[in-house]
Amino acid sequence: MPNNKASGPSKISYEMMKHLSGDALDFSLLLANTCLFRGDIPADWREAVVYPIPKPHDFDAQLKNTRPITLLETVRKCVVKVVTNRLSSILADSKILQGGNFAGLPGGSTDVPIKMLDAIIHQHKHDSSDDQELWIVSQDISKAFDSMDLNMLKLALVRLHVPALLVQFILNLFTRRNNKIITCHGDTAAYRVRVGIDQGEIISPLLWVIYLDPLLTVLNQEARDPFVLKSSALLDYSPLEFERHSLPISHLTFMDDSTFVASSKAGIEDRLSITAEFYTLNNVQANSAKYVLLSSSSPSSRIDFDLSPSSLVSDLSLSLSSLSLNTSFRFLGVWFSLSASSQFVLKQARSMVKDMAALLGPKKLLAQHVAYLYNAVLLPRLEFRLQTALFSENTVQSIVTPMFSVLRRKAGLAATTPLALLFLKLPFSIQNAFYRFLSSHVASWQKIFIHPDFSDFASYAISYLQGFLGVESCPTVINLEPWSHVVSLRTHTLFNTLLFSSRLNITWSLFFRPSRRDLQPAIPLRSILPHSIFRLSWKLWRNLNIFLLAQLASPCGRHLMNWPDLWYLGIVGRKGRIPIWFNFIKNNLLSSSSSSLLLSLYFINSSFTLASPCLLDHTVKDYHFYPQWAINLDSATQTLSVGRVCITYKKQNSAIMSHWLPVSTSADERTYNPCPGCALNIPALSKKSAIKQRCNSEKCFFNVILSETVGYPTRNAKVFAAYLPITLSTSWSYATSLALVHLTNSPSTASLTLSPPVEDRIEDDVLPLSVQSLYTDGSFRPAKDSLSSSMASAWIALDDDGFILDSSSMHLPSCFPSALRSEIYAVLLGLSALSHDSSISIYTDCSQLISLWTSLVDSPF
Ligand SMILES: [Zn+2]
Repeated sequence: MPNNKASGPSKISYEMMKHLSGDALDFSLLLANTCLFRGDIPADWREAVVYPIPKPHDFDAQLKNTRPITLLETVRKCVVKVVTNRLSSILADSKILQGGNFAGLPGGSTDVPIKMLDAIIHQHKHDSSDDQELWIVSQDISKAFDSMDLNMLKLALVRLHVPALLVQFILNLFTRRNNKIITCHGDTAAYRVRVGIDQGEIISPLLWVIYLDPLLTVLNQEARDPFVLKSSALLDYSPLEFERHSLPISHLTFMDDSTFVASSKAGIEDRLSITAEFYTLNNVQANSAKYVLLSSSSPSSRIDFDLSPSSLVSDLSLSLSSLSLNTSFRFLGVWFSLSASSQFVLKQARSMVKDMAALLGPKKLLAQHVAYLYNAVLLPRLEFRLQTALFSENTVQSIVTPMFSVLRRKAGLAATTPLALLFLKLPFSIQNAFYRFLSSHVASWQKIFIHPDFSDFASYAISYLQGFLGVESCPTVINLEPWSHVVSLRTHTLFNTLLFSSRLNITWSLFFRPSRRDLQPAIPLRSILPHSIFRLSWKLWRNLNIFLLAQLASPCGRHLMNWPDLWYLGIVGRKGRIPIWFNFIKNNLLSSSSSSLLLSLYFINSSFTLASPCLLDHTVKDYHFYPQWAINLDSATQTLSVGRVCITYKKQNSAIMSHWLPVSTSADERTYNPCPGCALNIPALSKKSAIKQRCNSEKCFFNVILSETVGYPTRNAKVFAAYLPITLSTSWSYATSLALVHLTNSPSTASLTLSPPVEDRIEDDVLPLSVQSLYTDGSFRPAKDSLSSSMASAWIALDDDGFILDSSSMHLPSCFPSALRSEIYAVLLGLSALSHDSSISIYTDCSQLISLWTSLVDSPF
C-alpha cells in the first residue's frame, strides 16, 4: 500500500497500519478474517467521503467540472486488496477470462493493445499480400463503474463459478453504502448510493473486467469477419516451408475502452448488434455520438449501419461518419491514423516541447528547475505519446532542442555549448531522451515476448517482420542496417526497436521461436550483395521467395545455375529481363567470366542445395517401349551419357538407352543431337521391333544399369522422325549435376530396382483421354532408279491447348504402295492409339481420304 494517500472517514492512514504491532495487529487480522468468513464488512466501512477534485478548467459551479474521488476506509481497502490479488492471480493463471480485456489482471497494460493496433495498421497499409478491408469503431462508454448493475455483476461472478461466499462478500462491498461529499462548508449529509461500484475500490477494475467478459467472449467467438493479423516467415527453403501465424482480432479492449476491429462493414454491424443487446441488459450507457469510425474502403463518408433485429434494442440503425485516411484518432491516449504516418505524432511531440519551452523561457527559474521539469514532466509525457513511433536519435534530439536552448540560457551558457556537456559533465543529470524512449520500447516488447498471454502476438510480430524483410533468419540475429532507409519500416516500432538496440550492441534472445536448421551455410543473398543492389532487390526476392545463394546454385553446390534453368525450376519468374542482382552475382562471384563455377568462397555444401532427384517413372512396365529422357553414370568408366531410356528391364536392373550428344560443349547447352553411332552402340539393340518401329531418328543404343540411371529434368520432349536436334528444358550442367549428386550420394539406389506396386496402369501405347485432335499425314515415294518405292505415315495428337501429347511415325511395309494408302495407314495408326470411347477430330490434307470417309464411314450401312 502506498504512503501519502488520503485516508477514509476514520482518518486511519496506510502509514499507521504499517506500524501496527502486538494486539492492534492481531485484532486487525481477526477483523479481516471475520469479514471473509461472514462474507460481509462492518457497517462503518460502508461510509465513505467523496472529494470532488477540480478539473483544470473553471469550476463554474458545475459538478461535471469536477473529478470525484471516493475515499474509503484504509483497513477495508487492505482486506479487499488481499482478495483482489488472490482472485486475479487465479483468474490469470487458469486463463478463466476469455474476453481478452487487457486490463484488470496482472501483466495487463496499455502497451499491448497499442502495439496490436499499430500492427493491424502496418499490415493493412504495407503488406501487399493482405487484401482485407480494415474497419475500426471506437466506442465511448460513459461512467462505466457508476452504472454497473449489481444483479448482473452477480450473474457474471456466478458464471465464473466464483464461490458463493466470495460473491456475497463482493456484493456486500457495494450495498447499503452511504457517501458524504467534502465541500468548503463541511461534509454534506450522508446519502444512500443505489447503483454502481466505487471507482476508488481496489477490486473495481477487476470487477469491471469480469462484468464485461461475457460480451468480449461472445465478440471473440461469434463476431464474424475479424481482422486477421497474418504472418509468414521462412523456416526452410528446400522445400519452401513457412512459419505462419494468423491471429484474428475482433476487438481491442482495455478496461471500459473498447474498440471494434473488423474486415467488413457487416462485421462491424455484427459487433454493434451484439454490444447493443449487452448494453441494454447491463445498464451500460454508450454514447454513439462520440463513436469514432475508420474505414479503409470508404473514408470520409457517412455510413449507415443496420443492427440485427432484437427485442432488446429499440434503435436498429446507426449512422457514423468515417474519418479520412490521414486524420489521426486517439486510442488509449496515443494517436494513430490509417495512413500509418508518424508525421502527426512527430508534430505533436515538437509542439509539446515548444509549448513547454515557451512557458518556461520567461519564468525566473534556475537551470536545475528546468532540468527537473524536463526529466520529470516533459519526458514522461513525450514517452507516452511516442508509443507508436520510435524516432531516430537525430530526430529525437531535434524534438527536444527547444528545451535545451532554455536550459543553456538559464544556466548562462553559450548557445554553442555541446549537448554532451549538458548530459555528462554538468550536474543537471539530464536524461537522454532517445535512450529513454528506446528503453521504454524495449521494455514493452520484452513484456510481449516474455508474457505467456501475449505469445501468439509475439510470434506474429516477429515472424511478420521477418516475412516483411524477406529474410531467412529471425530479425533479432541479422544486421538490420540495410533496411534502415526503407520508408514503410520507418513507423514500424519493432523494427526500429531492434535496429536501434542493435546499434548499442544489445542482442535479443527469443526463446519462443520454433527451432529450425541454421541456414547460414546456404549463404543469405543479403550478406553477399552490396547495399546499392540490395536496396533495389529485397522486395523482389521477398516476392519470389529467394533468400539464399543455395537456391541459385547447382545441385553440387559449386556452380551458379543459369537463368533458364532457374526459370524451369520455378525459382525465378517467367517475365522480364535478367535482373541486376543476378548479373552482379554472375559478374562478381564466379571464378571466371566464361564458366559458371563459383568462387570457392561461395561453394555451398550439397546438403544445402536444391537437389530433389528427377527419377524415372517406375510405373512403366518392363519390356514396353516408353522413352524417357535420362542420364546414365557408368560407374566403371565414370562416364555420363544423356539419352532416352526406351525399354526397361527392372528385374535385371537394366535398360536400353539411346545415345544423344550435346550440340556444343558449353555448360549451358540444352540442345542434343542423336549420336550417329559410337563405341557405345550395340547394333543388335536397334533391331528390336519396338525400337525399330519407334526410334527412327536414333542410331546409337546401348545397355545401361537401371540403378545408375536417373531422369533428365525436362518437360515432355518428343522425338520426331526428322533428324533435328532436340532442345530440353534444362541445361546439361544442371541435369548432370543433379544426376551426380543423386547417384553418388544416394546410399540405396537399389530402390529403383524394386518391383513397382501393382496398380491399374494405362497401357503405354494408349493415348490419354485429353486428346482432342489428330493430325495425320502420309508420304509416298514412287520407285525410282534402283530404289524401290517406299511409304511412311505419321500422326500427331494434340490436346485442346494445341499441346503435343504424342506422335508416331513409321515406315510401312511396301506392299502395293500408294499415296492414299500411306494416308489411310496414318489415320488407322492414330486411331488405334486412342483409348476406348474417345471422340476426336482428324485433320488431313488428303481430299481423297475425306471423300472416302464420307462415302464409306458416315453413310449408313
Ligand atoms: Zn553413341
